[in-house]
Amino acid sequence: MKARLPAALLALTVAAGCSPGAAPSGFADDGRLRVVTAFYPLQFLSERIGGDAVTVSQLTKPGAEPHDVELSPRQVGDISDAGLVVYLRGFQPAVDDAVRLEARDRAFDAGSAVELLPYDDQDEAAAGGTDPHVWLDPVRYASIAGQVEQRLAAADPAHAADYTARAAAVRAELAALNTEYAQRLRTCARHEIVTSHEAFHYLADRYGLTEVGITGISPEAEPSPGRLAQVADQARTTGTTTIFFETLVSPKVADTLAREIGARAAVLDPIEGLTVPGSDYFSVMRDNLAALTLALGCAR
Ligand SMILES: [Zn+2]
Repeated sequence: MKARLPAALLALTVAAGCSPGAAPSGFADDGRLRVVTAFYPLQFLSERIGGDAVTVSQLTKPGAEPHDVELSPRQVGDISDAGLVVYLRGFQPAVDDAVRLEARDRAFDAGSAVELLPYDDQDEAAAGGTDPHVWLDPVRYASIAGQVEQRLAAADPAHAADYTARAAAVRAELAALNTEYAQRLRTCARHEIVTSHEAFHYLADRYGLTEVGITGISPEAEPSPGRLAQVADQARTTGTTTIFFETLVSPKVADTLAREIGARAAVLDPIEGLTVPGSDYFSVMRDNLAALTLALGCAR
């Protein structure tokens, strides 16, 4: 609670300085709803659906790995000033804590909109954890879009019709993306994706693929030599041609494994944050589909 004092004082100072009185709580001075999002895919949905009726901030810096984000006092202040916080419970403990303390009644847990799956990783699954990487399934992501629309409309009823229209457009785009994935991945010679970060369980589940994770769920974990040998065996057996690594962490482990089995290493982006300027969720999903098509020997 101490952390939000400076932000609150600042807000008072600003409010005192401008004449017609403060904007209603949860709204910026220009009348736009303040939306705080936990990481990129939630930011993307909030911006697309919120449009010019909202001002969207993000708690994970671009290019940073979101799993273990830490919040500054200012960001905690942003959460307590928000009209809506869009986050995914269980993914970022620091965000969960701040939401519980500062925005319990104004927070939308994206995981509540969909059926979450247990982790592929046995240790995590045994601990009862659910896999957060749900945005990589366009169908589940569209369900989340529908709930973001509802929550925006509830927080800001004056713009409800705009939110509904923009959400419909996003959902139509996601439906088209799902069709592309389903058609392309139906034709593949292989169905195993070997990745350095187990982020693709939902995608695999949707399109009939099998995810083989090298390191388990933490993107920065180092696999044991035993685990590496096991994955190498499995990759050889299935004729794997490509070891995937993600963009926000080092490709070292994927490179090592690829060299060992004579495969190549390639990017499969979990879209936890954008790494390429000018890209967005849809462009990265299509890059991923192209990479999968090549790696799995699907018809092009
Ligand atoms: Zn992840």
